[in-house]
Amino acid sequence: MEGIYLDHASSMPVDPRVIDFAKPFLAEAGNPSSLYEFGQTAKQAVEEARNKVADLINAESEKTIVFTGSATEANNIGIRGTAFRNIKECKEVLSSAIEHISIINPMKDLVKNGWRFNQVPVDKFGIVDLDSLKKMITKNTVVTSVMYANNEIGTIEPIKKISEIVHNKGNYLHVDATAAAGRIPIDVQNDGIDLLTLSSNDLYGPRGAGALYIKPGVKIQSVMPGGGQERGLRSGTENIFAIAGMGEAARIAKQEMKNESERLKKIRDSLISEITKIDEAYVTGHPTQRLPHHASFRFNYIEGESILLNMDMYGIQIATGSACSSKTLEASHVLLAIGLKHEEAHGSMVITLGRSNTLEQVPKIVKSVEETVKRLRQLSPLSK
Ligand code: PMP
Repeated sequence: MEGIYLDHASSMPVDPRVIDFAKPFLAEAGNPSSLYEFGQTAKQAVEEARNKVADLINAESEKTIVFTGSATEANNIGIRGTAFRNIKECKEVLSSAIEHISIINPMKDLVKNGWRFNQVPVDKFGIVDLDSLKKMITKNTVVTSVMYANNEIGTIEPIKKISEIVHNKGNYLHVDATAAAGRIPIDVQNDGIDLLTLSSNDLYGPRGAGALYIKPGVKIQSVMPGGGQERGLRSGTENIFAIAGMGEAARIAKQEMKNESERLKKIRDSLISEITKIDEAYVTGHPTQRLPHHASFRFNYIEGESILLNMDMYGIQIATGSACSSKTLEASHVLLAIGLKHEEAHGSMVITLGRSNTLEQVPKIVKSVEETVKRLRQLSPLSK
C-alpha cells in the first residue's frame, strides 16, 4: 500500500538535493575555528549558508543570522538573551496565547526569576487581538513574541501591525517563523521584525540546525557561554552538515516558493471543500489568512488520537492537536485559545502538505477520512 504523508509540520523528509549538496560535510573533519585549509572550507560553508538564510527572509546582511541547533534553541536564545540584557524597571515579557511550547515554556521559566508573563488572546480564527495587545504591552515589556503563522491551525498573523504596536512602546518583537518560512514570503525589514526563528527541517533541511535572525542594533546577551561560536550566542562546534544543508534548503525554498505554494493551495482547498461536507466537520483556523499547505479540522463526537490511528491503517499519516503535546493527551492550548470547548478541541485533525503530495491523492484521503469518522462515530458514546 502506497502511503500518503500529511504531517509535514511534525517532521519533513530531507530534500535529496540538500543531501547531495551537504553530504561532503557529513564525513569530513573540519572545524570552522581551525586555521588550516579544510577548517576554512568548513567556515566558508557556514558563511555561504548564512547568506542563503539571510536571503530567504530579506535580512539586512548575512551577519544578522546566528545558527543554532534547532528552532527551540533559537526561541530560547531570542527570548532569554534579550530579556536578561534589557531589564527595565519591571521585568515583563508577552506572547500570544497560541505560541509554540518552545516560546511559552522559556517565558514561564522567566517567571521563576521574577518576570511577569502575560499572553495576548486571539479571536476564533487565531488572529491576535490587537486591542488587547495595545492594552497589555507596557514600556517594561522587553520582548513580545508572536508567531508568523500557527503550526496547528495555519492562521497567518498580521505581523506588520503587531510590529507597529510593539515598537510604539519601544520594545522588541520576536517572531517564530518555523511554520511559515519557505511557505510564504517573509521580509524582516518590511515587516519590522527584531528577532526571528527558523528551523532547518521545516525547510526540507537536515534536523539539527535552526537559525535566529537578530536585527542590527538589538541588544542581546549569551545564555550559553562556551567557546564563543556564532557571535558568542551559540557556543559549541558547528554542525556543518546541518548548517550547509539548511542554507541550501533555504535557497531552494525561496526559488520554488511561489509555484509550490500555488500547487499546494489547490490541494488544500480541495481537501477543505470535500472534508467539510462531512456532517459536523469544521475547519479550524482562518478560512483565508492561512498557510498554503495547511488544512486543519475538528469533528464532533470523536477523538483525535483515534482519528490518527485509524488514518494510519489507510497508510495516511496526519496529526492531531499539537505534535509536541500529542504525548500528553491534553487538549491543545491553541484550540482552547480560539474558544473551543475541551470536548471540541479533542476531535482535531491537522493536515500539513508537502512536496510529495498531489491533487490525485485527494479522493483517497477524503474517502479515508469519511470512513474513519463514520466508524468512530458508530463506536462513540457521545454520537447521536
Ligand atoms: N516553533 C514552531 C511553530 C514549531 O512548529 C516547532 C516544531 N516544529 C518548533 C518551534 C520547535 O521546533 P524544534 O522541535 O525543531 O526545535
